[in-house]
Amino acid sequence: VIRTFSTSVRSLQPVSSVNSLNIKRTTPLFINGEFVESKTDKWIPLYNPATNELVTLVPETTPEELKVAADTAAEAFKTWRKSSVLSRQRILLDLQLLIREHTDKLAKSITEEQGKTFADAKGDVLRGRQVVETACGITNLLMGEQLAVATDMDTFTIREPLGVTAGICPFNFPAMIPLWMFPLSIAAGNTMIIKPSERDPGAAMILAQLVKEAGVPNGVLNIVHGSVDAVNFICDNEHIKAISFVGSDRAGKYIYKRGTANGKRVQANLGAKNHGVVMPDANKNYTLNQLAGSAFGAAGQRCMALSTVVFVGKAKEWLPELVERASKLKVSGGMEPDTDLGPLITRQAKERVENLIQSGVGQGARLILDGRNPAVPEKYKNGNFVGPTILADVKPHMDCYKEEIFGPVLITLNADTLDDAIKLINDNPYGNGTAIFTSNGSNARYFTTSIEVGQIGVNVPIPVPLPMFSFTGNKASIQGDVNFCKSGLQFYTQTKTVTSLWRHEDVDHTRSAVTMPT
Ligand code: NAD
Repeated sequence: VIRTFSTSVRSLQPVSSVNSLNIKRTTPLFINGEFVESKTDKWIPLYNPATNELVTLVPETTPEELKVAADTAAEAFKTWRKSSVLSRQRILLDLQLLIREHTDKLAKSITEEQGKTFADAKGDVLRGRQVVETACGITNLLMGEQLAVATDMDTFTIREPLGVTAGICPFNFPAMIPLWMFPLSIAAGNTMIIKPSERDPGAAMILAQLVKEAGVPNGVLNIVHGSVDAVNFICDNEHIKAISFVGSDRAGKYIYKRGTANGKRVQANLGAKNHGVVMPDANKNYTLNQLAGSAFGAAGQRCMALSTVVFVGKAKEWLPELVERASKLKVSGGMEPDTDLGPLITRQAKERVENLIQSGVGQGARLILDGRNPAVPEKYKNGNFVGPTILADVKPHMDCYKEEIFGPVLITLNADTLDDAIKLINDNPYGNGTAIFTSNGSNARYFTTSIEVGQIGVNVPIPVPLPMFSFTGNKASIQGDVNFCKSGLQFYTQTKTVTSLWRHEDVDHTRSAVTMPT
């Protein structure tokens, strides 16, 4: 919902000036190394999902401000591209240290704006920081190839930056996903414009402050805010050569189409429906705890949440124990010490999840744990809470199976054999993540080779690879073919191949070389 505030209403809001790591009532832009107040008259209110109290107003960046950000990034590229890879490495080393030092501040902002628990928010920061740590190896990562083709001929490759790059981020990992993008991009010599989610940009703003403190020159990283208009600007602007996107199918498909139509590289990570297969030979206690944690942690708002369980054979008898574990999880505000799951991001998200639960009931699933209207402490009574919910006996035609619920709702299906479970998963259009729980190595091996999903856990519920690997969702979970983290470096660079001939002895050139050189 975008509200236009009249001047008089806006004048009630204190003008933001960010001179420390405290973000004030309005969220500023970060352009050319400065935090600046947008001159927009369109502000997006951001509410704490646990209380629905106003946290900040996020600007719809004006077209003029967006242009300044892109022009600034293009100007900064002229000098940043000439910086030595060693100087960029040094800055990244300092940045990772600063992120480490300010983990709690980042996590607090994430909990306040996004709702996940403080402990989980620290994990969000850590998984992002690991990308910075990987980017610190840029001196090795950027190395090209070289071959002495003959005694007088060499071929070698050089990886060069593209220019201005842009990142469009989702709400669910406010620190990790901007950190998937800008550290590798700027390490490779690009400049970048990040548009965080308009629902929780606070962590990105703190990262901008840390980037400045680490010594990243002005204009190398810029942050703009907004929604569709800002996205359209990014898809169309002439300076921007590549767009990284993570978010929903609808926005991602649109951005992929519009960005590539304008000749840009686009990498887009989209939605998911991740299945966990439970074999009867699995370690029961371990498996049930992992299932409850991965389905309900972060209130199910993770693209790698195991939101669908397929019990094979007798494993379905464990269902009552899964319900028992799920019902013990504590639902409350993310800063409360014992909270297991916090709220959903918005009231609309809560309503959508509740409607999908009801549609499951209407279409014949068994609601064996109903988390709607959970008991929460008085001060959170206005929050967007849904507690752990389990729908059993789900069938593939039901909406709760077909749609990504993105809430604390676990749906369960039964399969007679491992082959039946594999077929079910392979028939699903998404291919982000999956897991098998088993103590049988040959089942695990068979599963990993037969399954058509990009990231597979064997007794690991959320198999997000560390950033020295790539994040390899596939099928409908990705548009474009180059993914994040390790392969992100390929996305943010283009390769030059140089073939040179230095002949020591003079050769008699009697005729023009018209045939293909061999
Ligand atoms: P979202 O698509 O609503 O928003 C993502 C970004 O796109 C935001 O910056 C937003 O401003 C912009 N946007 C939204 N609608 C737009 C439109 N119509 N046109 C242009 N731009 C638009 O996604 P979200 O709700 O913030 O994030 C949740 C989704 O992200 C889930 O589907 C989840 O699976 C997915 N996700 C995927 C991965 C992955 O790696 N596959 C990782 C994290 C999240």
